[in-house]
Amino acid sequence: MNLKKIKILSITVIIVVIITIGYSAVFGRLIPYSPVIVGYEQKFFKKATVYYKKGYPLPSFEGIDEFIDENEKIHNLTYKRKVEIILCESDQEKKRITGSSTRAQAFPLFGRVVISRKLQNEALADKRTFGVYLQHELSHSLTSQHLSLLGSLTFPAWLNEGLAVYASNQFGKGGYFTKQEVSEHILQGLFFHPDWWPQPLQHAPAEFKNFKLKDKFHFIYSQFGCIVDDLIHTYGHDRFIVYYHELLENKNNEEVFQNVFGVSFSDYLDEFKNRMVLRIGKNS
Ligand SMILES: [Zn+2]
Repeated sequence: MNLKKIKILSITVIIVVIITIGYSAVFGRLIPYSPVIVGYEQKFFKKATVYYKKGYPLPSFEGIDEFIDENEKIHNLTYKRKVEIILCESDQEKKRITGSSTRAQAFPLFGRVVISRKLQNEALADKRTFGVYLQHELSHSLTSQHLSLLGSLTFPAWLNEGLAVYASNQFGKGGYFTKQEVSEHILQGLFFHPDWWPQPLQHAPAEFKNFKLKDKFHFIYSQFGCIVDDLIHTYGHDRFIVYYHELLENKNNEEVFQNVFGVSFSDYLDEFKNRMVLRIGKNS
């Protein structure tokens, strides 16, 4: 290949890369990470901005500033920036932006939240408790805003979910299990070890695939929420916060757990299971 051809080829590659990145930042997978969000209308709240496409009814975001205040208390952290929430006009758009068909998702770096059309429609029809979903994602958003990019890959995924379920008090709502139901499953020998939940970029371990339950995902999330609830009730909110904040600094879970709670993570999980079984029939 002569020099001229190499030059033309290099320029073509650079142009294609620029167009691809530009397209993704405006229409695709880079929207959650792009410095600016273009092509959306904006609705401003004190602590959040909602991005939406004109022409269809929006669910109510009344109370969002209170949800944010409440999350700051539970996590003992303040949001570093206003929360940006992107409402997808269709579920295809949600899939295009996030690569997934879940109802809602929060993203690393800025902690942006992307909400599917399906969840908005349910909110408008009052089918599900929209506020609960919103607060769940706002918990992820707050955690994400305090994690480095590396940290977002290593922060325990079970803790991220458990804290979001606890903060939004999702137990018994929209298909999630009550604490009592989680206890009853544990009594029957069903327990999903937190280490079986895959970290970002990790393939799910065999135990994850072998865990058989009809409503597996709701159970797992609810059980993680019960672990956070148990940690706070057993050791106190302040001690839980020390544990959570240390893990935000990309530290090892086993070490931090032992140092903060004075028990190994594995021994704690056995104690957790015993406490859950003992609480069956009690009103807590
Ligand atoms: Zn979640």
